[in-house]
Amino acid sequence: MADPKQKSRLALPFFLNLFFTVFEILGGFYTGSVAILADAVHDLGDSIAIGLAWLLDVKARQKPDAAYTYGYGRYALLGGMIASLILVAGAAGVIAKAVPRLLNPTPVDATGMIVLAVIGVIVNGAAALNASKGTSLNEKAVGLHLFEDVFGWIAVLFGAIAMKLWNIPILDALLSLLFTVYILFHVFKNLRALLSVFLERSPRGFHPETITLAAVDGKDVLSVHHVHLWTVDGTNPLATLHAVVRSDAGATELERIRLDIHERLEAAGVRHATIEIELGDGLCEDPECAPDAPDAEGHHHHH
Ligand SMILES: [Zn+2]
Ligand SMILES: [Zn+2]
Ligand SMILES: [Zn+2]
Repeated sequence: MADPKQKSRLALPFFLNLFFTVFEILGGFYTGSVAILADAVHDLGDSIAIGLAWLLDVKARQKPDAAYTYGYGRYALLGGMIASLILVAGAAGVIAKAVPRLLNPTPVDATGMIVLAVIGVIVNGAAALNASKGTSLNEKAVGLHLFEDVFGWIAVLFGAIAMKLWNIPILDALLSLLFTVYILFHVFKNLRALLSVFLERSPRGFHPETITLAAVDGKDVLSVHHVHLWTVDGTNPLATLHAVVRSDAGATELERIRLDIHERLEAAGVRHATIEIELGDGLCEDPECAPDAPDAEGHHHHH
């Protein structure tokens, strides 16, 4: 997490990207290049994503409150969803413009493209350097992504030089489709990760079995059931479970056993767990609710 006293490194990349997107859209129409327009769509998506990541860096320091008891993590995911949908719409626009040009290539202003590409390398390079000096995960992710974008501009630069030297205007449409495929590939990956959070899928790298293995020690904790696992912010897992504890445990012992379970779960990466203690079998009020993992100990069929 970012140091609260340190200003976010994402403000400059955000404004650079936003102004550059507008500049690029104008440049795309001026040079007649769909490759530049495709990059403009990509940069528009970047601007939105960086802007939301920047807001999140500020928002992440905000504690959960009465209205949002889980905190504000999912706001950022909603932002990612909006950015993805805008990118899909933009990509569709570029495809609609580029495909007819494959059949009927239109000449572009290659010199103008070279100028734009050089500016693109400089602006994206500066934004990438600034963001990668940051310490938060968001700042690092944005920095890495912006370095990838510098390579996109280098591709535009070489494409424009090739079109200046030889009469191959189709290269512009090919480049734009290449960028669009790249954009959609990232959007698809993002949407899949976002949807799994919204659909309460078990967080990446966590499985109910992991929780069971961590909680059950075979000595005090005989079995667990009712294991539920989800995430609010996309990274930190939350869990609820029922633990069946040996029935001769006394009150002080129960307290220690409960704290021990929390400690083992924390070691397994689950810092926020809610544990219900049951002494022996047959006490569960809702025995039908459990993930269907036949190899999991304490499955309800054993009750
Ligand atoms: Zn980008
Ligand atoms: Zn349940
Ligand atoms: Zn139970």
